[in-house]
Amino acid sequence: MNKTKALLTLSILTTSVFAQSNKDIDPKLTEFWEPVPEVVTPGPVPSDAIVLFDGTNLDSWTGHDGAAPWTVKNGYMTVAPGKKGISTKQKFCDMQLHIEWRAPEKTPGKKGQQQNNSGVFLQGRYEVQVLDSYENRTYSNGQAGSVYKQSLPLVNAMKPPTHWNTYDIIYKAPRFNDAGKLESKAYVTVLHNGVLVQNHTEIQGGTVYRGNPSYKAHGCAPIFLQDHGNLVSFRNIWVREL
Ligand code: MG
Repeated sequence: MNKTKALLTLSILTTSVFAQSNKDIDPKLTEFWEPVPEVVTPGPVPSDAIVLFDGTNLDSWTGHDGAAPWTVKNGYMTVAPGKKGISTKQKFCDMQLHIEWRAPEKTPGKKGQQQNNSGVFLQGRYEVQVLDSYENRTYSNGQAGSVYKQSLPLVNAMKPPTHWNTYDIIYKAPRFNDAGKLESKAYVTVLHNGVLVQNHTEIQGGTVYRGNPSYKAHGCAPIFLQDHGNLVSFRNIWVREL
């Protein structure tokens, strides 16, 4: 008997043994009824979500030295170039985040990272890149949907300028022990316009422009949106704490 045939025979035998023995197992043994999942009325905004921006005001946000300075108009907010990024007042750990964003018309003469750049920083440290990556090449681990300078997106699902993009982000925060030592890294899954671009990606540390990422201990922390000097807009931002 050759090896393949032997393995096939073994597989059939194993299957039939399981099929036989499974009949004697009470199916109730593998059913559990407690706890009962909470009822959540689904979208567009799930009933248990915290709305961080509904298009009317920046009350849930703060600037680096006071009120969030970005502009709000027509149901969306836009970066105020040069006035720095904004952070949520509330701190978050594990979460599901929904955020919509839009790049304006292409800026003539600009390319790569300079073509309408912003960013969603999870816990203020880990950037999911926001960039007009529609027909705009840059380093792959710096395009839209990347974990900046760490993990390129699986595909480029970018819509053309002036069209709204969605990010649905599932994030697991890193864990540190009492001494501040890293116990487990952060993980992120990202859907860009419903298309998977990060699949349970292990984050290697804070996302930085120069050098290698590293971890520094922290607790729950705000979501930060970047001012990279470009008129990128955001709307419909909500989060579910996990
Ligand atoms: Mg950026």
